[in-house]
Amino acid sequence: MLTLARRVRSILLLSLVVFACSRTVLAQTAGDLDPRIVTLVASISPERLGATLKKLESFETRNSLSSTDSATRGIGAAREWILTEMKSFSPKLQVGFDTYQVPKQGRIIRDVELRNVMAILPGRSPRRIYISGHYDTVARAGGQSASNSADGPLDPDAPTPPPANPTAPLDNLAPGVNDDGSGTALTIELARAFSQSGIDFDATLVFMCHVAEEQGLVGARLHAQKAVAEKIPIEAVLNNDIVGGDTGGSGIVDGATIRVYSEGPEDSPSRALARFVQRWGARYVPSHRVRLMARADRFGRGGDHSAYNQLGFTAVGFRESRENFTRQHDVRDTFAGISLPYLAQNARVNAAAAATLALAPPPPVVTNERGQPTISRAPSGYDANLRWTASPGAVAYRIFWREAWGPDWQRDLLVGNVTNVVLPNMQIDDYVFGVAAVDAAGHESFVSAYVTPPRASTPIRTSGQ
Ligand SMILES: [Zn+2]
Repeated sequence: MLTLARRVRSILLLSLVVFACSRTVLAQTAGDLDPRIVTLVASISPERLGATLKKLESFETRNSLSSTDSATRGIGAAREWILTEMKSFSPKLQVGFDTYQVPKQGRIIRDVELRNVMAILPGRSPRRIYISGHYDTVARAGGQSASNSADGPLDPDAPTPPPANPTAPLDNLAPGVNDDGSGTALTIELARAFSQSGIDFDATLVFMCHVAEEQGLVGARLHAQKAVAEKIPIEAVLNNDIVGGDTGGSGIVDGATIRVYSEGPEDSPSRALARFVQRWGARYVPSHRVRLMARADRFGRGGDHSAYNQLGFTAVGFRESRENFTRQHDVRDTFAGISLPYLAQNARVNAAAAATLALAPPPPVVTNERGQPTISRAPSGYDANLRWTASPGAVAYRIFWREAWGPDWQRDLLVGNVTNVVLPNMQIDDYVFGVAAVDAAGHESFVSAYVTPPRASTPIRTSGQ
């Protein structure tokens, strides 16, 4: 026999389900693809990417410690050109240097002024989506292939021997067309495409060309530190570093896939962002496959997304599928190692993911003020009861779940403009649940997953000690 209270709860549950179904039909009529995003993705130009790469190569070196007094050579000329180029795209883009005075430390072998080049496309809200690469370069004798041939992964933070004259500019040839001219050209091309799209984005988009990645993610760390200090709401960073080559040094050619690295644990926001890139990349660019890598980065290698992760931000790293180490940190990293059709496909995946994210509402909050997940077994004690905080602009939410063993979502269900759903008789201990916010046109946020934060170990006192 049902008690009265349980009967009332059953009626409420039923009405919720009916409401959810009616909203499901409504939201699905909007279709999966936004024609404006289709147009934006199609506007990515391999020819423009190629022209940008040739220009970047012409500076001969973009080492962060190279000359700044030449109009045609070195990092000073390169950053001025990137600034001017991005300024030319649209009056909507706010382009400027993100400048820091950095004293000698670590791999920065002398005091130096470092400048990220940053273009902001303001949205209706201050929350920010970043697309990034690093425009600085480095070349060493033997390059990355010599490092790889050493026994075991090298420590990326190991000190390098100082040059004979540490005050002289490091002007040795370092073309860096793939590392990371490719990520820089992609970032610049997306700055153009987004700012000229005519789309009114909800999120603010930031196109960031980082400096001094090769000295230990320095430009990215400095900006992430500033974002923490100034409480800049960075929602997601899509970082691209070495994304232009389709032919590996071992001879394998793969121009149809891209790797995306993200730090754990399994349901961290960065993993949710990585799954989002795969889901929406596959819809807008079905000819290209995103291979998700459940690790922060490659062995012994680093990238700017990690600088954001380390300060608590959500960030992933795009890497070409087959690397050629003889063309990294080496004078041989030239235009000849680039496949423009491949780089363009990677740019399109970035564009699809960033545009969808920037049009979607922010991801729902699924924790309470104490950081605990708002999931319970109520009302029966055997149900999955999910609560979340409404996201501004959402008209529906999509619930995702999978068995609590496995990397990818297995089921999803679109529900209405509610902040609580009960899935009867689903044992919450056996599944991972998450929820994404959906707007009227079907744009989805990435998924906020219900996870238990790690518990601190409480030491047990013993008597007589
Ligand atoms: Zn790099």
